Amino acid sequence: MPEVGVLPEDPHPLPPPTATFARDAERHLLDAPRHCPRCGAAIAGPGGLVVEYWAADDRVFYCWCRSCDWTGTVVQVDRHIGHEAE
Ligand SMILES: [Zn+2]
Repeated sequence: MPEVGVLPEDPHPLPPPTATFARDAERHLLDAPRHCPRCGAAIAGPGGLVVEYWAADDRVFYCWCRSCDWTGTVVQVDRHIGHEAE
């Protein structure tokens, strides 16, 4: 049982602020999908896998869900232009 008032060890420690990809690691922790787009289960940590890579200006999150075995990519966009039904 953890000691009262003592925080558990951080499972995702950030690199030192001066490290080469420190800012990218911080953005990944803030923006990576936390839940499966298909079933909604948690995919962060032991519930799945989220890996980020970059394609030109796109940030692409490759995801795998342990609960429903879905794999796919989630692409973050800055702006979306859609159409409204008449
Ligand atoms: Zn799922």
